[in-house]
Amino acid sequence: MTNQKKIAILGSTGSIGTQTLDVIAQYPDRFKATVLIAGTRVDTLIQQALQFRPEWAIIADVAQYWKLREALEPAGIRTAAGQDAINDAMMLDCFDTVVTATVGYSGLTPTLRAIRAGKQIALANKETLVVAGDIVCKALAESRSTMLPVDSEHSAIYQCLVGENHDRVRKVIITASGGPFRSFTKEQIEAATVKDALHHPNWNMGAKITIDSATMLNKAFEIIEARWLFNLTPDQIEPLVHPQSIVHSMVEFVDGAVKAQLGIPDMRLPIRYALGETTRLDAPEEHLDFTKYPTLTFEKPDEEKFPCITLADLALTRGGNTACVINAANEVAVKAFLTEKIKFTNIYPLITETLAHIPFIESPSYEDYVACNDESRAIATEIAEKISNRI
Ligand code: MG
Repeated sequence: MTNQKKIAILGSTGSIGTQTLDVIAQYPDRFKATVLIAGTRVDTLIQQALQFRPEWAIIADVAQYWKLREALEPAGIRTAAGQDAINDAMMLDCFDTVVTATVGYSGLTPTLRAIRAGKQIALANKETLVVAGDIVCKALAESRSTMLPVDSEHSAIYQCLVGENHDRVRKVIITASGGPFRSFTKEQIEAATVKDALHHPNWNMGAKITIDSATMLNKAFEIIEARWLFNLTPDQIEPLVHPQSIVHSMVEFVDGAVKAQLGIPDMRLPIRYALGETTRLDAPEEHLDFTKYPTLTFEKPDEEKFPCITLADLALTRGGNTACVINAANEVAVKAFLTEKIKFTNIYPLITETLAHIPFIESPSYEDYVACNDESRAIATEIAEKISNRI
């Protein structure tokens, strides 16, 4: 079919990547995966490529290249490996839209390349906007590229804003499940294990974002993401804990009207909406039955128990490279927690201590961001080692 949308998936073997392939498989007339890119999971990538028959399958880990090539070359699927190959792939003619489903800072460079190549971006990698929202928005303004959010909260806000005048928005309310530790005491959080933190009540996601949900830094990142996606001021963005995760976010207008988008927690909804470019496609999954959710509750986030959420305010008021440092330190901290080198409650101080060591840059260039990320990771790694030797 000629008007099939051709899709590249950056991070095809992760949680969002595999759910994107689910959606593509549901609409074979509409969507075709033409480029699959993975980090290290070569066996899954091979299996996906043999099923979806993309033009390209690319792996970040060069050590896995021969295995990939041997498996896919006989099937006529082209292969490549390494970060440069991934960055270069963003300029291939064989796709129109890239789903950026990779985790962390690594999404920034390929996303910028894709923007410059005029591709549509279905943004699942929020860190791209957290780290360098200013230069990403500038690149978008200078390109014919457009960006649609895949993050469920931002998809909800986007859906609420359709047909509305942007200057009539009073504020957006970003809902948060509160994560697995919402009803824990401070003492219980202090003693939390990796297993406790990985047990998210509503959403089935990758390890990194599940830990970010438990610290609520994920919500701080989503506030920053919303600031850039919807051009809002910091005081126009309010987080609100909603443990049932049915209201995916809301927009309040100047006349007091509030619009919300609701649905069962299933990432395939925002993925489908972004890939369909806001067209509403039929969904075969379970639909929302209100009688199963007779009570929807809302509460303010507890900043004392979840101090990471306050980092959004700090990042947005200081600006510059602040969020880049927070993100880098957090990536190190989450890894150290997952490998049981530090405790859950060490994550926040590790981030703030890293911030205290890194010089502030008011208007960073792309090169400044790259250097700041490297430097912040090095400092955060040293701090993590020190904490690890203490406990
Ligand atoms: Mg989200």
